[in-house]
Amino acid sequence: MEKETKCIHAGYEPKNGEPRMIPIIQSTTFKYDTSEDMGKLFDLEASGYFYSRLQNPTTDMVAAKIAALEGGTAALLTSSGQAANFFSVFNIAGSGDHVIASSAIYGGTFNLFNVTMRKMGLDFTFLDPDCSEEELNAAFRPNTKAVFGESIANPSLKVFDFEVWAKAAHSHGVPLIVDNTFATPINCRPFEWGADIVTHSTTKYMDGHDATVGGAVVDSGKFDWMEHKEKFPGLCTPDESYHGIVYAQKFGNAGAYITKATVQLMRDLGSVQAPVNAYMLNLGLESLAVRMERHCSNALAVAEFLEQNENVAWVNYPGLADNQYYRRAQKYMNGGTCGVVSFGVKGGRPAAEKFMKNLHLAMIATHVADARTCVLHPASSTHRQMTDEELAAGGVPADLVRLSVGIENVSDIIADLKQALSSL
Ligand SMILES: *Cc1c(COP(=O)(O)O)cnc(C)c1O
Repeated sequence: MEKETKCIHAGYEPKNGEPRMIPIIQSTTFKYDTSEDMGKLFDLEASGYFYSRLQNPTTDMVAAKIAALEGGTAALLTSSGQAANFFSVFNIAGSGDHVIASSAIYGGTFNLFNVTMRKMGLDFTFLDPDCSEEELNAAFRPNTKAVFGESIANPSLKVFDFEVWAKAAHSHGVPLIVDNTFATPINCRPFEWGADIVTHSTTKYMDGHDATVGGAVVDSGKFDWMEHKEKFPGLCTPDESYHGIVYAQKFGNAGAYITKATVQLMRDLGSVQAPVNAYMLNLGLESLAVRMERHCSNALAVAEFLEQNENVAWVNYPGLADNQYYRRAQKYMNGGTCGVVSFGVKGGRPAAEKFMKNLHLAMIATHVADARTCVLHPASSTHRQMTDEELAAGGVPADLVRLSVGIENVSDIIADLKQALSSL
């Protein structure tokens, strides 16, 4: 199946007389005839459901669709993108371990790694994603367990050099984890470029309608855990909390990582996605391919309009031919990038604030990546405690406006931007 077809059909194949649509199995628990039947499930000798904190048929069907879209072997839905990124790393790294991450990542992920996971005893090195190969290779330590990046960084829109980072990770015997939220599997398939694990905030384009917070972790099934078993004892030695099971032996490369994340992390942490949320996420997934096409064509037209406007100082969109990341985007994402554009308003902070006030269609929201065009001026909202100098040093200049281009008719979006800019 091609990706557009997978969006509709992957993950669920109704049999004779069964529901046409992925059904919502809104049940915490599942009934068995004998304790022996249930015992087999607990021993992971048989597959089936017993309690929705670990697995639920609805969430599994939607996870299977996302796995198919990414070209992976298995996937797990989580309650949010934050939980997905936490699980992706914590499944293979713990106290005393080290992780290398791109510095161009979502702020929430940066805090998760740099504050909360440090408190748990993990150490992180953050590197400019465009650093030299020498610098990247020099960051590895004997206790490095994973490398982490974002396919298109939120909000800097830097495009990740998958091949360079995958090569460095693999030559040091560790997997590459990529957050593919902004590009989505419609525009980029990280597994084809060397990534081993993919994560998503499904809250963004996958849901796409501002309806439900969620996340996903997908395994490519390609990383050979047993070949590096001294680094990954959690997968390659007996799990005492699970009757001494050795995940990499019992489930192989295709199943070990997601099985462990489900029966161990999800069992203990419970960051589960509700079946009804997974049902809504699936509605978004069905139209993902069509919507991404429109998000990208609208965003490109908006970026081209902004480049020509006399009140705009600069435009950053990796789909523009003069963008620093254009060639890399063409290589890794030849169908399009994402719908997020950032730009600077001439006149700095006061001009940007005035521009924001004068918008009618584009809504002010911290959210990005859904059907409705929305806009954020970090210097007067999320980053308002910072001075202009601090903002510039942090790569979020005071004139920066982040625009998430929706799927409305592009002439309405451009007309709104045009009138707000002409008021300056
Ligand atoms: C929003 C976002 C997250 C966090 O996801 P939530 O669903 O809000 O928890 C992680 N990564 C990226 C790239 C995001 O944009």
